Amino acid sequence: MALACLADSVVILTDEVQLDAFMTNYAEDTKHHKPLFVLSGGSNVLLPAKLNAIVLRPQMRGIKVIAQTDAYIDIEVMAGENWHDLVVYTVTKGWYGLENLALIPGLTGAAPIQNIGAYGMQLEDCLQSVRAYHLPSRTWHDLSAVDCEFDYRDSMFKRQPNTWLISRVGFRLHTDATKVRASYGDVQIVAQDYAAQHGRSKPTPADVMHAIIEIRQQKLPDPKHLPNCGSFFQNPIIPQAQFTALQSYYPTIVGYPMPDAMTKVAAGWLIEQAGLKGGGIAPIVTHQQQALVLTNHAPYIATKQDVAAAQKYIADTIYEKFAIQLSREPVWVNTNGSIGYKEHVV
Ligand SMILES: Cc1cc2nc3c(=O)[nH]c(=O)nc-3n(C[C@H](O)[C@H](O)[C@H](O)COP(=O)(O)OP(=O)(O)OC[C@H]3O[C@@H](n4cnc5c(N)ncnc54)[C@H](O)[C@@H]3O)c2cc1C
Repeated sequence: MALACLADSVVILTDEVQLDAFMTNYAEDTKHHKPLFVLSGGSNVLLPAKLNAIVLRPQMRGIKVIAQTDAYIDIEVMAGENWHDLVVYTVTKGWYGLENLALIPGLTGAAPIQNIGAYGMQLEDCLQSVRAYHLPSRTWHDLSAVDCEFDYRDSMFKRQPNTWLISRVGFRLHTDATKVRASYGDVQIVAQDYAAQHGRSKPTPADVMHAIIEIRQQKLPDPKHLPNCGSFFQNPIIPQAQFTALQSYYPTIVGYPMPDAMTKVAAGWLIEQAGLKGGGIAPIVTHQQQALVLTNHAPYIATKQDVAAAQKYIADTIYEKFAIQLSREPVWVNTNGSIGYKEHVV
């Protein structure tokens, strides 16, 4: 969101040993204890103007093949690898599975935090393992996907903020170029077009990746040119009965069936339907092409309070109209480095 932030100090970590060394010193220096805050690419955080914390920045690099058969390949990726570059690298190598998550900003170590997802896929579909440091006990842990307790835009890491530092992520990718997930939204049409242009009757995973890049570039503002943190609100999950009742008033409401008689509602549709496309509280307003994205149009440096005011106005309007509570997706960071996630009024 391009909110200016000044932190007490920043520690760049280029390998795991550095973290061990830093934490030993940190534990010994009981006099000057400051809170710790882990920051990767900064694309999903709302930072305060002054952060009274030590910022740890995991920037370890490297991609290693761990195991390979004809059908699959296991890789381990260090936290500091750029996520989109990793997607392009794997697809180019003929290792498939991550293609639907192309063009999501940020670094690989942050991807498990909210179980990044897009176009019918979530990180947990390919993730095998996570190596993470438990900051309070100063111990390393090798965690399985089950240990991470993934959920929609959620994980055990997200529920225990400032407790873990992820240093590596393991993936199992496949080598079957006929296996694609292209049924979501307009991906099928664009991927099919892309395949046809290249003389193929069916899209390959590379075609799906190119289609998703094209769709995202058209729909989402580039944070470098128009500051934003992607989807600002999560798609709310409501009881199927409530969705059916809403459908009788709003036949075009968009929802996706979920387990346990629940329905995931398209938050962008709700915002648009409430007449808030392009609306908000200046300088923070929703994007004209994608109502779910809040953009920062400040001619001066906007603050977290500007974002909070726009969030409250939009969420309150949606609640009044549909009786649906919207939750914020990006991470709200307080001055002492603590984190507020779900709260509606900030
Ligand atoms: C234009 C745009 C589009 C986006 N599209 C999507 C999308 O389609 N799907 C989606 O899921 N997200 C999307 N996002 C959100 C964002 O890209 C992801 O959440 C991404 O994983 C954040 O990565 P980051 O490196 O910037 O993390 P940061 O913003 O630096 O950190 C996010 C959180 O993770 C914690 N964290 C970061 N790294 C680590 C680590 N190594 N160990 C422990 N904790 C850590 C931080 O403390 C913070 O709480 C989008 C964002 C933008 C700006």
